[in-house]
Amino acid sequence: MEESGTKKQQESSHAIPGHEVAERLGVEPGIGLSNEDVNRRLSSGGINRIEQKAQHTLWQLLHDQFSSIVIFLLGFAAIVALLTGNQLEAFAIFVVMLINAAIGFWIEWQAGRALEALRKSTRITARVRRNGHQQVIDAETLVAGDILIFSAGDRVPADTRILESANLRTDESTLTGESVSVEKDSAPVLVSAPLAERRSMLYLGTTIVAGNASGIVTATGKHTELGRIGQMVAQVEEGQTPLQRRLGDLGRKLVYIVLGIALIVYLAGIFRGDDIWLMLEISISLAVAAVPEGLPAVTTLILAFGVLRMARQNAIVRRLAAVETLGSATVICTDKTGTLTENLMTVREYHLANDRVIGFSRANESESADEWNEHLRNELLTRLLLVSILCNEASFDTEGNGDQPKVIGDPTETALLMAAKRFGMDVTAEQSRHQNLYEVPFDSATRRMITVLKDNHGYSFAAIKGAPAVVLKSCKTYLTNEGETVLIDRQTRERFLEINREMADRALRVLAFADKRVTAKNDFSTEEIENDYTFLGFVGITDPPRIGVAEAVTVAQKAGIRVVMLTGDQTSTACAVARQLNLSEGAEVVALHSSDLAEAGGGKIADMARRAHLFSRVSPEDKYRIVRALQAKGEIVAVTGDGVNDAPALKQADIGIAMGGRGTEVAKEASDIVLTDDDFSTIVTAIERGRTIYANIHKFVHLMFSHNLGEVLMIFTAVMAGLPLPLLPLQILWINLVTDVFPALALALEPPSPETMNRKPRSPSETMLSKPFMFLIFWQGAMLAAIALAAYLWALREYGEGRQARTVAMLALVGVQLGHFFNCRSTTRSVFRNFFSNPYIFVAAAMVIALQALAVYFPPLARILDTAPPNKYDLAVIGLTVILPVIIVEIYKFLPSKRSSNELIPHRTSGSAN
Ligand code: ADP
Ligand code: MG
Repeated sequence: MEESGTKKQQESSHAIPGHEVAERLGVEPGIGLSNEDVNRRLSSGGINRIEQKAQHTLWQLLHDQFSSIVIFLLGFAAIVALLTGNQLEAFAIFVVMLINAAIGFWIEWQAGRALEALRKSTRITARVRRNGHQQVIDAETLVAGDILIFSAGDRVPADTRILESANLRTDESTLTGESVSVEKDSAPVLVSAPLAERRSMLYLGTTIVAGNASGIVTATGKHTELGRIGQMVAQVEEGQTPLQRRLGDLGRKLVYIVLGIALIVYLAGIFRGDDIWLMLEISISLAVAAVPEGLPAVTTLILAFGVLRMARQNAIVRRLAAVETLGSATVICTDKTGTLTENLMTVREYHLANDRVIGFSRANESESADEWNEHLRNELLTRLLLVSILCNEASFDTEGNGDQPKVIGDPTETALLMAAKRFGMDVTAEQSRHQNLYEVPFDSATRRMITVLKDNHGYSFAAIKGAPAVVLKSCKTYLTNEGETVLIDRQTRERFLEINREMADRALRVLAFADKRVTAKNDFSTEEIENDYTFLGFVGITDPPRIGVAEAVTVAQKAGIRVVMLTGDQTSTACAVARQLNLSEGAEVVALHSSDLAEAGGGKIADMARRAHLFSRVSPEDKYRIVRALQAKGEIVAVTGDGVNDAPALKQADIGIAMGGRGTEVAKEASDIVLTDDDFSTIVTAIERGRTIYANIHKFVHLMFSHNLGEVLMIFTAVMAGLPLPLLPLQILWINLVTDVFPALALALEPPSPETMNRKPRSPSETMLSKPFMFLIFWQGAMLAAIALAAYLWALREYGEGRQARTVAMLALVGVQLGHFFNCRSTTRSVFRNFFSNPYIFVAAAMVIALQALAVYFPPLARILDTAPPNKYDLAVIGLTVILPVIIVEIYKFLPSKRSSNELIPHRTSGSAN
């Protein structure tokens, strides 16, 4: 019943007046739904979500595991074992196959879960009116009939009929493919209007690019237009990172090389007269051991673990590739307000047009309400306060009537409400006493907001608030002591600007206010709305720097990353903050103004941006140009943003960073990373994480390739040299299982090393597998093979060919790998520095040792693997095989030529900081 009713309303609601839609949906727009309504509608209509197809089903993952080349090879080996009548071995290989698949499955499942958790944390919220007051809710709990309040930058969270709007424009490209923004208002349109022409409707998945509005939800979830098309709005971008892709390609190439080597080993064995079936199994096992099958899965896991940790540290990654880019960032272009500063705006003083100053300080904090109220006898102050609360989109949450009333809205605006309340002004009553006739919302390009109001006596006036220079430009007169309006001459204008400068030098954020009488109507020309105001005065707002930001700036600078402040605020305020944060590293602060950019070309802008510590009065357009110019000079740019207009800069940047708290949905969508705490320090932590993740993948690649190479070279050399086979097929498979998995997991959890933030950004053009790194892997792999072979030769001399010698060979191979595991924690730093920084390393080592002990001391397993318990001489030799690789690599690390190079990760030779 309700279902079909909803559908009919949905179909025609664009064609009937808004209030009728509200009537049909049983809601009073001024009050909104009650909690009971919402619950009832939620249970009948369902939650507001379009079901997303599960990306990785369990089966898909399992299937992937069993389709890999390794599983194929193992299956082949099992068949060979069966054919040669060796059932036990066939069964063991089968078990290895299962374990292999299980591990691969587990790793990918973990990684998938981590990414899924991230996806969930980027939920959309909506501002609604329910039970008569505004609140912010999770958009999934929206129901038909809910009253929504929109402003520029919001995502439309459900299909909505517009009730009221001001200069509303939306971007409907997700729905209609049309990229030009569309004007919207509340007037009904023809019933037959196609979707793209229903100007009275807002649709799920589209965004508000300008203006503001209120509306009534007509359809949610799968009943919406978008839901009906069955399309999904992309949330977290899928796909592999460049590094993952490169490693994946390499892995595939290696498969052929490995198969080639296996074939050579096979032929060599046959040639010298070994059993063909045994040789077949040996070469297959060798191939299994050498194929870097864990590479993609472990890389994903390291990325996912890292990304989860970043989320816990308040940086949510929306695009995995950004993690890699983070490590090579050379410049951070950051907002001031809310990112470098607290965004805890508090009004400090009013400076009226008649030069009267009313300050808020500790001294007058204790003054009684009556004393404060006394100020309201001053007409000038009262008019200024009225402008400040009426030309203002914030409001008090009227439900919470406690001592600390809650305010909803922009911090600059809420500060103004709080201050007016301090004087005893009844903000909510004044707001409802005035009717809003027309509105030009605040926008960071124009830096002012205008409202036309009519009070309940029929008096109508226009109110403007904004940046001092902008507001003064719109003023013709000012209000004096005697309540007279006087023309502003050049001298007076200068004096006002001087007052503004003086306030800004004290790091105050300055806004100016003005008003003028107008005739009541609903539409105004630019000419009418922008000129001839009467100036009332200034307000100075403080916004202290965030705790820890000064330190974070220093960390970034040490790491070779420049920090540039881009602010819409004026130069003096910005300079004062830059000095507090030491952006200029002790030098004179170099501040440039938006107007300096105006005539400059790309190259010039880049030079400026490499020199300047801050740009004041920047528009989103300037931001975009600065990012582009820096990129053209080879810089890797991270940029922060929050507004709708920031989207182009965020998209253009190498790392777009949106503010999770105050940022618009549009900005978040355009970004790679969302900061849940809006804090600059989080960016620096994220960069450190990004560098660590890259370093950990580097460590794993080092470990995996040198281990595999060691195994292959040992067997290859033995076969070529005509030695008896050092390892049996199952032993090779066993080593492959125990020596890589746990060390890989432990390396994924390595914490940042102390030098992480003491070096220049990684060069983005270099691949991870640089020539020096390949060379390192090669000689170290050869070293591992040589030491293990030496142990085997000793055992052959001691015991002759057979079970005991093979056991020593197997333990020796595990031994060198165990020692080398510690080497891989750093290519330059001594093993013993920060030895205990990662406890998982020891857990992993203990696991390897325990499993190895099982292989020789646990009779059933020993029988399958055909091993014998080692004696004390064997153990001494094996101990040596663990220690020797460490000693050799330690010596190498201390070679003078090695002391200077860093971790073999190519770094920029000159960071932009110089
Ligand atoms: P930022 O966030 O970098 O400080 P903004 O673009 O938010 O820059 O603000 C720039 C200037 O615009 C401020 O210095 C202030 O004078 C003015 N301003 C800020 N918020 C508002 C607002 N809500 N209404 C009117 N003017 C504002
Ligand atoms: Mg701002």
